[in-house]
Amino acid sequence: MRVLVTGGAGYIGSHMVKMLLEQSVEVAIFDNFSTGHRDAVLGGTLVEGDILDLSALDAAFRRNRFDAVMHFASLIQVEESMREPAKYFRNNIVGTVHLLDIAVAHGVKHFVFSSSAAIFGEPCYTPIDEEHPTQPLSPYGFSKLAVERVLADYERAYGLHSISLRYFNAAGADPEGNRGEAHDPETHLIPLILQAASGRRGSVKIYGDDYPTADGTCVRDYVHVVDLCDAHLLALEYLRRTNRSAAFNLGNSRGYSVKEVIGAAERVVGRSVPVERHDRRPGDPAILVADSTRAKAELGWRPRFDDIDTIVRHAWQWEQRLAKKEKVAN
Ligand code: UDP
Repeated sequence: MRVLVTGGAGYIGSHMVKMLLEQSVEVAIFDNFSTGHRDAVLGGTLVEGDILDLSALDAAFRRNRFDAVMHFASLIQVEESMREPAKYFRNNIVGTVHLLDIAVAHGVKHFVFSSSAAIFGEPCYTPIDEEHPTQPLSPYGFSKLAVERVLADYERAYGLHSISLRYFNAAGADPEGNRGEAHDPETHLIPLILQAASGRRGSVKIYGDDYPTADGTCVRDYVHVVDLCDAHLLALEYLRRTNRSAAFNLGNSRGYSVKEVIGAAERVVGRSVPVERHDRRPGDPAILVADSTRAKAELGWRPRFDDIDTIVRHAWQWEQRLAKKEKVAN
């Protein structure tokens, strides 16, 4: 089997490439390195290109016949998407339509899409299942929802079968320590806490402690990046077995507050983490927790690293590696 992984040099994409290679799948990575890292390419064939560049995409599909595409390439910063919606619509929607058109033209039948809990907007109830209304609050969330709609129409019209995987809070790192998260700027809670723990950052801000939750801080469903990759493999198997499209919410169905995550980090690291109280961040719902019953029932998904201490421990291994590298560079 040969799979094209767009965004294969990014956080989740690079973990996926590693897992696919371990499964003896042939992999080609398509990445423009706008946010991905060259040292995240641990194997496979690299095609440097942009999903907005139709000729670069066409060349990649001419060179190889792909059985499936896994599409991770995407801009992901909610706040940036509010300031620059055009950038998000162009990259995340138009770019994906380009990719789909070329994939369809080359006879690809199976497509796995990185969607997001951001498609749901403010929760009407918790935990959030697949029937929950979709009212995204940001251009980022809208861009993911728009692609899900495009995929439904492409199946009807062109016979492209797809699975949309709505990640809740992707977190953690390769348990072997070879890969992890390295966004620039970093906006995600766990890496920011661990940077404060390693001394690469003075403190971590707590965005709001007056939410209607047990300790006043926001509750999120953190899901290990390796478990997300497992879900992608299962999605591919499902597509090959059933030729049916579907969407699944991926989380551990258990929420942790910002303060609880800081507590987990302090247990893992063995010292206290400097924190700073800050105003709420606009657009953050109080609680976001997934109901992943459908993914478990239909894909057979079984998260392996579902406790927060393990997620943070793997992220800490990676943070220590980054901190060491930074020290050497300075
Ligand atoms: N958060 C925080 N301080 C930070 C970054 C995030 O308190 O420096 C909070 C944020 O308000 C949210 C949770 O941590 O409730 C997770 O945020 P993240 O940006 O990691 O993911 P999101 O839930 O926005 O996708």
